[in-house]
Amino acid sequence: MLQIGHGGVYPTALAGSPDVSWFFTRPVARGVWLVAEPGHVNSWLVAGRDRAVLVDSGLGIAPIRPVVAALTGRPVDVVHTHAHFDHVGGDTEFDRVAIHPDGAAELRAGADPAERRRYLAYARRLLAAAPAYRALDGEFFHLLSADADPRPLPPDVDTTWSPGPAPEPDPLVEGDVVDLGGRSLRVLHTPGHSPDSVCFLDEHAGLLIAGDTVNTGPIYAQAPESDLAAFAASTARLAALADDVHLVLMGHFGRGVAEGSYLRAVADAFARLRAGDVTLRPARDCDDDPVREAVFDACSIYVPAGFS
Ligand SMILES: [Zn+2]
Ligand SMILES: [Zn+2]
Repeated sequence: MLQIGHGGVYPTALAGSPDVSWFFTRPVARGVWLVAEPGHVNSWLVAGRDRAVLVDSGLGIAPIRPVVAALTGRPVDVVHTHAHFDHVGGDTEFDRVAIHPDGAAELRAGADPAERRRYLAYARRLLAAAPAYRALDGEFFHLLSADADPRPLPPDVDTTWSPGPAPEPDPLVEGDVVDLGGRSLRVLHTPGHSPDSVCFLDEHAGLLIAGDTVNTGPIYAQAPESDLAAFAASTARLAALADDVHLVLMGHFGRGVAEGSYLRAVADAFARLRAGDVTLRPARDCDDDPVREAVFDACSIYVPAGFS
């Protein structure tokens, strides 16, 4: 069933089936799907012959497991790019999750409710801006797709959004191989955005799942747990893979899929930022905190407000 909604066409719940209208999914490669919470966060489902993994589990604003179950009949475990709340909200719906050991404490602790309140305030600013953006896009720019077009928040989200605890996580470390049967994902520890950030490389298919280490909107390097030197080293390491990566699958924003060469653009941006070869402008992050934004042709990087 399709419904013409707020600026887009998207599925509504069929009678007796789970309400999947918060999500948008599409295949991006054989056995690989984008599971988007459009305008918010991207999770990635990767299926092999025997099992599947969901790379990150989203905000937890709406159940993600029924959405995943509609895409694959394989057993599904969760593996994480990092422990930030916007990537782990659906963990409670799964039996097994895995994360880099540097993120295990944060995952066990769960998100601070104040963090969710700040995020909902951001989501409402985004939704308030969306109609004007859709109108301009429809007339002039033609970039907006269902990957990016934000959907209405569920009713009563202020009280219903309260993710349950994650299962005790298994460790994921540099060099680990997640075997799915006829397909495997290699774990690359890529600290910078956070100490626990990892990427997943499917060498055979040429896919890199990058979490928040690579994004096509502002790359968040402003948080207290971020480390610019480590970020630059990690993105340089990823850039060395660019010729062998066909697609980079990222954690946020409407352009959640990029070609491998984008890895070089991001590494170049970090190198220029480290070298001081950059102009900084004031901006605000999704917590509405003041930051400085280093703007490059292909991407931008948020750094702390006191950065110079
Ligand atoms: Zn993050
Ligand atoms: Zn994120």
